[in-house]
Amino acid sequence: MNNEDTIFIDTKQLAERWRMDARSIHNLRLKNKGPSYIQPSGPNGKVLYDLNEIKSGKKDQGYQMKHALLSPSSADKWTKCPAMPTLAAKVDYQVGLPAAVGTLIHSMTEQLLKGFLVDVTLEDYWLGKTELVEDFEIIVDQDMIDCAKIYVDYVQDRAKRLNGKLLVEQKVRLQEISEDLYGYADALIITPHKMCVIDLKTGKYPVSPEHNKQAMIYAIGALSRYGNEDTEVEITIVQPRATWGGKPIKTWTTSAEFLVNWAYDFLKPSVDACLEENPVYVYGDHCRWCNARSICDLYKQYNKGEDNDGK
Ligand code: SF4
Repeated sequence: MNNEDTIFIDTKQLAERWRMDARSIHNLRLKNKGPSYIQPSGPNGKVLYDLNEIKSGKKDQGYQMKHALLSPSSADKWTKCPAMPTLAAKVDYQVGLPAAVGTLIHSMTEQLLKGFLVDVTLEDYWLGKTELVEDFEIIVDQDMIDCAKIYVDYVQDRAKRLNGKLLVEQKVRLQEISEDLYGYADALIITPHKMCVIDLKTGKYPVSPEHNKQAMIYAIGALSRYGNEDTEVEITIVQPRATWGGKPIKTWTTSAEFLVNWAYDFLKPSVDACLEENPVYVYGDHCRWCNARSICDLYKQYNKGEDNDGK
């Protein structure tokens, strides 16, 4: 075996970076046709993965999606209903097809932004492939690839214009508020005076960056590590597939001072309420998106005569 055939696979490292389990990393490699080169750091600074070597005996396990108890993506719900996180944790919830498609698109963007694809386009690598995500077999189409490319183009252009440091899928913790509050920011751009928090939304229901709780939580976590009280914070939602609601890329600019005040005046009391022994149930419009509504007595009281999913 010559050098070019040598494979160094640190699946743990890759799994952590890709938010998948190690077997899914093998699967991803197994399913992709060559040529494809992936370059995490290795003994020679460049590691070449030979797909044929990886093919042997790997059973398809699909992707895994893991979430914190107080997931930033669910913040709009748990800041309104403190009981939601603990009740939702009791439900063996299966994500829907749109969320599974979103996971796959995020994987594509991560490949590009981390430089994992060398001399291979997204189309070459992904178009027409069938991927198992959760329980869904998803055939990658051009719309999904276009969505990934619009986001990647924006992120790369913004990082270049600001001459900032780009962090992709960066884990952010808000341990000053709670150890249970953490998440993964799609993209952060760090400069001495400005920080950009960029979130890719793959759904069609339009999402605004203004006072977007998920992105604000990412920003606060990132500020505690990379910012200071004078940092300007730019929150951007990139949503190429939104079918209405204006432009696909929307930005809201705020300050570190505003976000820190929000964290201590609003976010921390909301988190504390969720972590109480007997958290309060609060019914409202947010219940429509709650994963726990099938086992929630309060929801059932308000929706007598409907099925448990409120459909
Ligand atoms: S269904 Fe509504 S009231 Fe029940 S836990 Fe979920 S958000 Fe709270």
